[in-house]
Amino acid sequence: MKRAEIIAVGTELLLGQIANTNAQFLAKHLSTLGYHHHFQTVVGDNSERLKSALEIASTRSDLIILTGGLGPTKDDLTKEVVSEFVNESLVYHDQSLQYIEQFFIKVNRPMTENNKKQALVINNAHVLLNKNGMAPGMVYEVSDKQFVLLPGPPKEMIPMVENELIPYFLKGKEASTIISKELKFFGIGESILETQILDLLETQSNPTIAPLASEGEVMLRITANAINEKEALKLIAQAEEKIRERVGQFIYGTNGDNLFIVLSRRLKELNLTLSAAESLTGGLFSKRMTDIPGNSSIFKGSVVCYSNEMKQNLLNVPKEILTNNGAVSAECAKSLVENIQSLTDSHISISFTGEAGPSTLEDVPVGKVFIGMKIGKLDPVIKEFQFSGSREQIRLSSVKNGANQLLKLINSSYESQDL
Ligand code: ATP
Repeated sequence: MKRAEIIAVGTELLLGQIANTNAQFLAKHLSTLGYHHHFQTVVGDNSERLKSALEIASTRSDLIILTGGLGPTKDDLTKEVVSEFVNESLVYHDQSLQYIEQFFIKVNRPMTENNKKQALVINNAHVLLNKNGMAPGMVYEVSDKQFVLLPGPPKEMIPMVENELIPYFLKGKEASTIISKELKFFGIGESILETQILDLLETQSNPTIAPLASEGEVMLRITANAINEKEALKLIAQAEEKIRERVGQFIYGTNGDNLFIVLSRRLKELNLTLSAAESLTGGLFSKRMTDIPGNSSIFKGSVVCYSNEMKQNLLNVPKEILTNNGAVSAECAKSLVENIQSLTDSHISISFTGEAGPSTLEDVPVGKVFIGMKIGKLDPVIKEFQFSGSREQIRLSSVKNGANQLLKLINSSYESQDL
């Protein structure tokens, strides 16, 4: 297996002003393209140091991908250093030059000489067209080594990799298709998930299975490489089946899904409406539900009842509950969920009350949250949680757990009863 490494060029990266997301994106693609990937380097806009990074990389890697430093300014020096390193001159690439000239005519601005510099490419390199910016990328091949130069801005680099570089790499090889499928999990941590499927992760080659965690959720990306789409999908289905056998109960969706999309889809299927009463979440549940276009048919809205006064006056929570049990209580969540349902005349309702921190007003631990759910005429279901993390994380955990619990409750209620 060939070895690849990434050199990201840019002083901004070294200063911590931007994160090296280009390397992250490229790294994900390298394994699917069949490369071992052992090293990544970040180097500032400095020709001596870039040269030394190239010297080191070319002793240990077959494919060296550089990003950044292809722009018009003096500190953009990647192609100059690489061309010198491989002993080639820089020449104008006609198509890119015309594109740049046309751009300046179109925006009615004079083209400065340094803009022309962006159309310079390494002699004998294969040029990767930049359809989202000015500087083209390039692939320079010498004996058994390949140098790939890509622009820094992700909105230029990503489409160039997907539309120009990968097809170039795959050209001439046996036709192949790379397809990915994402499985979305909720209610299981990354480490437990990994333990459950460790043998699958350790023996994977095609398809590959990559765990990714963010915002309190875990996702597994299954990527298959095969001669055609049908074969790739078959490989994915086999891996997916094995994963589902072990941890299927935690999978709520696939690919572009999130919990709110899946919940909305279910409500639409069943022709049901939903409303919410939100205290600690301050409208976050409503935000997530209304992020999805076309949800007005199922989501009626929410009342943000942050103060006790609002809970009492707008949502009729009895004063005794607020004084005796407190706003963060199962009783308050129950009263909220019952009253928002009748107030809005919706089939289903959900309520959130809790202590998001960082300090606590009532004598309630930070992170304690009650979520109330009510379906039709059924008795309300109240769930108690103890979340941890920052205020933001506690609020996010609240709405995600709310959506997840509600989804489960809807599924079990509609499977078992005629509502
Ligand atoms: P430009 O034509 O815009 O100058 P360039 O190819 O010369 O492009 P740089 O000047 O190095 O690229 O970077 C331009 C911008 O691209 C940076 O300000 C940053 O926003 C983004 N960028 C550069 N490198 C990376 C990276 N490794 N990861 C994420 N973003 C990056």
